[in-house]
Amino acid sequence: MNPNSPILGIDLGTTNSLVGVVDSGFPILLADENGSRSTPSAVCIAQDGSISVGAVALRQRALHPTRTITSVKRLIGRRPGEAGWTPPYSLSELKTSPVEVSAEILKHLKAVAEHALEQSVSQAVITVPAYFNDAQRNATKRAGELAGLEVLRILSEPTAAALAYGLDKLSEHQKIAVYDLGGGTFDISVLEMHDGTFQVLSTAGDTQLGGDDIDRLLAEFIAQKLNLPPHDIRVLEASEAVKKRLSTDDTASFNGLDITRADLEKIARPWIERTRIHCLRALSDAGVKAEQLDEVILVGGSTRMPLVRDYVREIFGREPNTSQNPDEAIALGATIQAGILGGSLRQVLLLDVTPLSLGIETFGGLMNIIIPRNTTIPAKAGEMFTNAVANQDSMLIRILQGERELAKDNWELGRIEVPFPSGPKGSARVGVQFSIDADGILHVLARDTATHQDTTLQISGTAVDVEDERVEQMISESVDFAFEDMNERIWTEAKLKAEELLPAVDAALDQLADAISAEEKSAVVSQAATVRVLLAATDHDAKALKAATQLLDEATQSLAVMLIDRAMEESLVRRGLV
Ligand code: AMP
Repeated sequence: MNPNSPILGIDLGTTNSLVGVVDSGFPILLADENGSRSTPSAVCIAQDGSISVGAVALRQRALHPTRTITSVKRLIGRRPGEAGWTPPYSLSELKTSPVEVSAEILKHLKAVAEHALEQSVSQAVITVPAYFNDAQRNATKRAGELAGLEVLRILSEPTAAALAYGLDKLSEHQKIAVYDLGGGTFDISVLEMHDGTFQVLSTAGDTQLGGDDIDRLLAEFIAQKLNLPPHDIRVLEASEAVKKRLSTDDTASFNGLDITRADLEKIARPWIERTRIHCLRALSDAGVKAEQLDEVILVGGSTRMPLVRDYVREIFGREPNTSQNPDEAIALGATIQAGILGGSLRQVLLLDVTPLSLGIETFGGLMNIIIPRNTTIPAKAGEMFTNAVANQDSMLIRILQGERELAKDNWELGRIEVPFPSGPKGSARVGVQFSIDADGILHVLARDTATHQDTTLQISGTAVDVEDERVEQMISESVDFAFEDMNERIWTEAKLKAEELLPAVDAALDQLADAISAEEKSAVVSQAATVRVLLAATDHDAKALKAATQLLDEATQSLAVMLIDRAMEESLVRRGLV
């Protein structure tokens, strides 16, 4: 590898992709032979198998809608059918995959860069939405490798945008929000910058919300007015052009139909309104009030819409900062990061956060969080666990991601079987450590501290066990079900405690049959009966079970004291001391 060859910064977007390098200390974006710095993220696979990418591919879409692949970012790292979006093409019929299609786009960008720089390049930083999970990040990395690029870093898009924004203001201490509404995704992040350090305080968003949705709805509106088939690709393309025109003009026309900005805004409003809840959540997660923000910066082509700017102004109570070119900020940030990694820009420390909590399943099916949501990465944390039953010789550790109280409601990222020498209950000592590297990828290590035997987990991008639901759905469900979840957690904890206590109570009563009064005995027996009734009830009254179990626990403790006293007495008698 040529040590002087620059590292590319790549914004692999849903709609458009861009590539840049640091040249003589400045980040610049590279143009293709036609002078365009933005390449449509489109790939066309012709009947004869030949592949075209970018604007050339997009021009094929009207003629070959089933052979022209767009918005493949919505599919990458997901299982078939999980994207919540049905593309107009079938990747399996085209004998390709989201990773391979993304690799074609990246190959194209690499070629654009090599042509512009007149030298070969082999390393890159690639951006992904903040909400991309492990599988999606890994798939993006694989696409880079398939394109012949060593991917030095996977960078979150809002972080990249903040980097682009913050580079020349390193001495300032600021809190900023990055509102990024692109073609396919919406991300909102709150960041803090000081002394050349960026820290993401929180991120939220919707991976299925963007300008494409508005194009689709506008196309339906236009098709209905003009009596055209609603999903005609030409209508869709015209709709996007009309939408863009309406960002600056009050009216635009298509086939003789006049469309006003008010028409568009009526259609777009409910979609843009959907960004509000995420903005409020990001602020509350970061513990920052809107008025404490120094800047709200706009990123993504859709933030050119006046309606979007109105919303942002209203939500954050301030004029948004539009100093960044909304289409280029992310690529610029990726390029700056590439420059830092390559040593051609001064070091700026970059900190990111975990979008969802990571933990493992514990006894009773509960979620035990090891790294909470919104933890700054890289991060490392661990806990010790023991065996719940005697003569167990291994422990199954399920690694979970999500915000729900019960393990089953979270997503399983993987599992590890940790072997250890069998022994009595509570004798094993297994340490589980999670570490998240700078790319946001999770490494799990389980160690039997007695034998020093390590088990590590490879979370592969294609792990079929990955429950790939939408993150924002997870978060909103965790709020929607907060009451039920908490009730279930209290119930499960009380149930475990009750199941441990009941046999102990029975045993103690047996041993103390002659030592306690009939009243004492009947009080304990009736308390145990109450617990049994509550345990058997189908309505899971968590509060009642917890209270009853606590009372039983107290009763058991007095029995335990009696048992100890009695053993003591017997021992003294045996030794002839009393
Ligand atoms: P991005 O993913 O950031 O490249 O954003 C692309 C999205 O921005 C697409 O949905 C475009 O239609 C949209 N877009 C680009 N320019 C404009 C504009 N002037 N007005 C409204 N939307 C735009």
